[in-house]
Amino acid sequence: MEHLRKRVLVTGGAGFLGSHLCKRLVANGDDVLCVDNYYTGQKKNLEHLMGAPNFEMLRHDITFPLYVEIDEIYNLACPASPIHYQFDPVQTTKTSVHGAINMLGLAKRTKAKIFQASTSEVYGNPNLHPQNESYWGHVNPIGSRACYDEGKRCAETLFFDYHRQHGLAIKVARIFNTYGPRMHPNDGRVVSNFIVQALNNAPITIYGDGSQSRAFCYVDDMIDAFISLMETPENITGPVNLGNPEETSILMLAQKIIDLTDSTSKIIYQPLPEDDPIQRCPDIRYAEEILQWRPSTKLEDGLKKTISFFREFFRNR
Ligand code: NAD
Ligand code: UDP
Ligand code: UDP
Repeated sequence: MEHLRKRVLVTGGAGFLGSHLCKRLVANGDDVLCVDNYYTGQKKNLEHLMGAPNFEMLRHDITFPLYVEIDEIYNLACPASPIHYQFDPVQTTKTSVHGAINMLGLAKRTKAKIFQASTSEVYGNPNLHPQNESYWGHVNPIGSRACYDEGKRCAETLFFDYHRQHGLAIKVARIFNTYGPRMHPNDGRVVSNFIVQALNNAPITIYGDGSQSRAFCYVDDMIDAFISLMETPENITGPVNLGNPEETSILMLAQKIIDLTDSTSKIIYQPLPEDDPIQRCPDIRYAEEILQWRPSTKLEDGLKKTISFFREFFRNR
């Protein structure tokens, strides 16, 4: 019976998005193999799946070849937060580029469908707003974000060339800022930073004047979109923007988190990092059309769930 289950590989499965995806796939009854080198992810994120007969984990770095038999691949492996991807930028590019080549080679040999976790960062610091999929982006190729932005752009190139040259079934998702439980408390992204600071009544660190904007999508909505995209007909390749178009300034986000946590934290202002986009918001009309999907979680509700997760996290430490 075992072989009748769909065999799904999730690279980066021990990370934030990967752990939610593995959980969903295991619940759907798929035979799930998580591959991760634990660079930013943790086994703890998958504790709840350890006993499941349709789940297994392999410590492996995708910059090296991987030979397994598989029906679908979700390629999520790559550090996603600026402090982590800038810590070892050469490895970040290797993960995006060599990792993509290996996973595409694997997909080619096994005839598996392959999903790529691309990013809104392919648009760089955009001069079109909101960003739609036909926009080519405004990226600094030599700045401190380039290892990630250009690595992900090259991965998209590889996906489309394997599709055109070798007929691979590809699904490329451009993911916009996503948040929720199991974000790493130290990974430096804005939602986790502000919540951790607020719960500890520590200063909230706004970079720049806080007028820059982002649009935040709750993780459950994002995972719904991943699974729907994988199930689309073969002629649908993407790239497709996935995110929540509800835009907010970073200052508003800080205030909202202070309110929701009843924190006594004060806001402090620090320098804006290099190449930090001023404004980012997805145009998701294409996703709505092909997936009949729209994020349903309001920012306030998603923040409440994320705050509960971090409260619990600190209680158990
Ligand atoms: P994360 O850092 O929590 O997870 C990434 C996972 O990949 C980690 O478990 C890490 O250990 C693993 N990894 C890194 N390099 C690896 C390698 N060479 N081999 C094997 N495993 C490796 O990040 P996340 O937020 O879960 O992001 C997952 C994917 O989604 C990433 O590809 C990221 O670029 C993309 N993405 C995320 C967001 C977001 O807002 N969270 C936005 C855009 C794109
Ligand atoms: N690869 C892999 N697993 C496989 C098949 C291929 O990791 O099951 C790797 C292999 O190491 C190769 C890469 O994927 O370097 C690209 O494979 P492809 O078949 O496109 O290229 P080639 O093997 O011809 O270089
Ligand atoms: N940011 C901030 N304080 C923090 C962390 C981030 O003001 O403690 C800002 C950051 O400069 C950026 C926005 O919040 O403008 C989103 O940052 P994040 O690293 O979460 O994601 P990205 O820049 O990749 O969208």
